Amino acid sequence: MARIYNFSAGPSMLPEEVLKQAAEEALDYRGSGMSVMEMSHRSKVYEGIIRKTEDLFRELMNIPSNYKVLFLQGGASLQFAMVPMNLLSKNGKADYVVTGNFSGKAYEEARLFGKEINLAATGKEEKFIRIPKQGELTLNPQADYVHICENNTIFGSKWKYIPDTGKVPLVADMSSCILSEPVDVSKYGIIYAGAQKNIAPAGVTVVIIRDGLLYAPLPGTPTMMNYSIMAENESMYNTPPCWSIYIAMLVLEWIKKQGGLSAIKTRNQEKAAILYDYLDSTDFYKTAIVKEDRSMMNVTFKTGNDDLDARFAKESAAAGMSNLKGHRSAGGMRASIYNAMPKAGVEKLVSFMKDFEKSK
Ligand SMILES: *Cc1c(COP(=O)(O)O)cnc(C)c1O
Repeated sequence: MARIYNFSAGPSMLPEEVLKQAAEEALDYRGSGMSVMEMSHRSKVYEGIIRKTEDLFRELMNIPSNYKVLFLQGGASLQFAMVPMNLLSKNGKADYVVTGNFSGKAYEEARLFGKEINLAATGKEEKFIRIPKQGELTLNPQADYVHICENNTIFGSKWKYIPDTGKVPLVADMSSCILSEPVDVSKYGIIYAGAQKNIAPAGVTVVIIRDGLLYAPLPGTPTMMNYSIMAENESMYNTPPCWSIYIAMLVLEWIKKQGGLSAIKTRNQEKAAILYDYLDSTDFYKTAIVKEDRSMMNVTFKTGNDDLDARFAKESAAAGMSNLKGHRSAGGMRASIYNAMPKAGVEKLVSFMKDFEKSK
């Protein structure tokens, strides 16, 4: 058996310790005589797993007690609809900051439900190379919420400041940066994230929502998409994605063992610096994102020559590093270096990049 360094943007690498533990517990979860995959979600044992997962989220992210932690399905993409369906029932207005592909999709989805969905700023004309400054945001104080995508998985940029939205709740898609560093949850109305980047395998979507935002949704909102009902039932209105939540628990325990989110951030900064320092030292590869907005999780770069980029993807895969080809809408290369990517993987990549540069 040989594991390779997998730079996939998602689903992506999980910590090896977590995979080993899941394998060990696959036939008999801690004396229950069955796998978590086979277990009733109403059983005492499973109740223990889901509540432990919630407790670990609360502890590691320092989530205030006036927030609910929900485990839902449908991916981050379903949140693009659930957010407007649940929050627009007050004024029917929302502000969206479009900084890449996913925030653009979230904006389009909200337009299905609201009459005044305002584009607070867009980086489209600049090809999403940076995050807008506070002064560039056109915010409406009557909005029901402001939506941002905290880390732009495809283009490789990241909000480094929390925008001031006054009394208007801030909603953030953190799919590709959650658990990569500490966050001040109290500054957000809602934080949501699909699991398959930094939490667990695909299947569960985590929604952290302030109690005050649990109000009646737009008429016609399906039961399964109603935050209040999901919160009242503690994510157990129906069968939750049991397996994915269980792996999330193991990943959170792993993060705790690493020293928590501050320690994880230090490691992530070190890993990202290895790549960016090299990128800054050579003219062979270029990274388009302005320096102060660079993502620690998704590092994008190009040679400027499409044929060379294609050869890079092919030859790096042959050298044991998969999924380095950039997203089709951005081109070039992308190295996704989430929590589970070891430093040795990034070092191996940079060493390959140097050799590739020399050979051309
Ligand atoms: C991956 C990703 C999504 C899409 O997630 P799904 O779970 O596939 O719906 C949305 N937003 C961001 C920032 C992502 O990285």
